[in-house]
Amino acid sequence: MRQKKFMLSEDQIPKQWYNIQADMPVKPQPMLNPQTREAVTQEDLESLFCAECAAQELNQTDRWIEIPEQVRQMYANYRCTPLVRAYGLEEALGTPAHIYFKNESVSPIGSHKLNSALAQAYYCKQEGVTNVTTETGAGQWGAALSYAAKIFGLEAAVYQVKISYEQKPYRKSIMQVFGALVTPSPSMSTRAGKDILTKMPNHQGSLGTAISEAVELARVTPGCKYTLGSVMNHVTLHQTVIGLEAEKQMEMTGEYPDVIIGCFGGGSNFGGITFPFMRHNFSGERNTRFVAAEPASCPKLTQGRFEYDFGDEAGYTPLLPMFTLGHDFQPSNIHAGGLRYHGAGTIVSQLLKDGYMEAVDIEQKESFEAGCLFARAEGIIPAPESCHAIAAAIREAKQCAQNNEARTILFCLSGHGLIDMAAYDQFLAGNIR
Ligand SMILES: *Cc1c(COP(=O)(O)O)cnc(C)c1O
Repeated sequence: MRQKKFMLSEDQIPKQWYNIQADMPVKPQPMLNPQTREAVTQEDLESLFCAECAAQELNQTDRWIEIPEQVRQMYANYRCTPLVRAYGLEEALGTPAHIYFKNESVSPIGSHKLNSALAQAYYCKQEGVTNVTTETGAGQWGAALSYAAKIFGLEAAVYQVKISYEQKPYRKSIMQVFGALVTPSPSMSTRAGKDILTKMPNHQGSLGTAISEAVELARVTPGCKYTLGSVMNHVTLHQTVIGLEAEKQMEMTGEYPDVIIGCFGGGSNFGGITFPFMRHNFSGERNTRFVAAEPASCPKLTQGRFEYDFGDEAGYTPLLPMFTLGHDFQPSNIHAGGLRYHGAGTIVSQLLKDGYMEAVDIEQKESFEAGCLFARAEGIIPAPESCHAIAAAIREAKQCAQNNEARTILFCLSGHGLIDMAAYDQFLAGNIR
């Protein structure tokens, strides 16, 4: 079935990111220093992050933030990414809905994560940092950071969640090809890792354990900064290139989305595609629905509590005001490793609390059914994470078919699943119930 692609020219790639904090009717509450219980300062954050990211994190006033020219040039290697009308999927569903997806899987590492990795590596290099460290789940963020570090001449050390390190061996290889040092977490190489393994020798690892280890490494290594691929405000800021492009591309279609959907780990691809559109809801011009699709096994948005909690297992990070299942929550070993995180970013948490967005829970089996239907209709194998967004889009489209209503649906295809075929094998063998 024919697809229709909407593309922008190189000079239409955004020159600025959109900082939703400037426009939010209710600003996110401050992150707190766990010792003093006072709001964290830029200085506090700079002990972990590079200075520019620390400043962006706390910036609640500047609506537009300049994309550095060198970052924009690297963006131009794979951006703009296509906006695609999914005629094949519409036909397979027999729906009157118009379904569009923004295809972030075309980046060199296969997901949206590179949009922020390039920015973070660039700022670190500018500030004289020599080493970067991070955690990774499925390995998408680790791969993106490893590549970005190589481009800007930094050494990268990545802690990968142990279960993913074992289930997804090729992501580790990709990081190693880009020259990164990869360690499965929890490991014996940090105090945090040792403590966790002493208590629970068979701990499978979680993003929480890996964050603790990476943060500790950054704290004890001179010239080393910590980077994050999700959750933080500055990360979602960088991802707004997705929505800013999509906004221009939707204009080319002559339609405006009634509902915009993203899968949800910590909120960066969801915020990236939705925030530029959400500003028109704040101003009253539009009434778009925004739907975050999270895994039923890690339902922080629908079942979590809004409270101050740590971002990591060991309690090294500032306290974040967010929807959380508790920082010691151990999610089951679903294949969508990038969605196995206990909390949500502070901006999206505030937006959910204030009713500007919704969330739905997707069972793993439904996500893979959706992913396979999409693959057969559109020829792209979606990442297990992205399958959650597809499943939510399919629910919307089926509702349209029932009500005979032609809604316009836009979702973010956050990544491809070509390195996740072991997960698809499990699904096809009937082992995912
Ligand atoms: C990391 C990842 C996610 C989840 O992270 P968010 O910050 O919530 O976007 C989703 N999809 C893919 C492909 C990922 O790599």
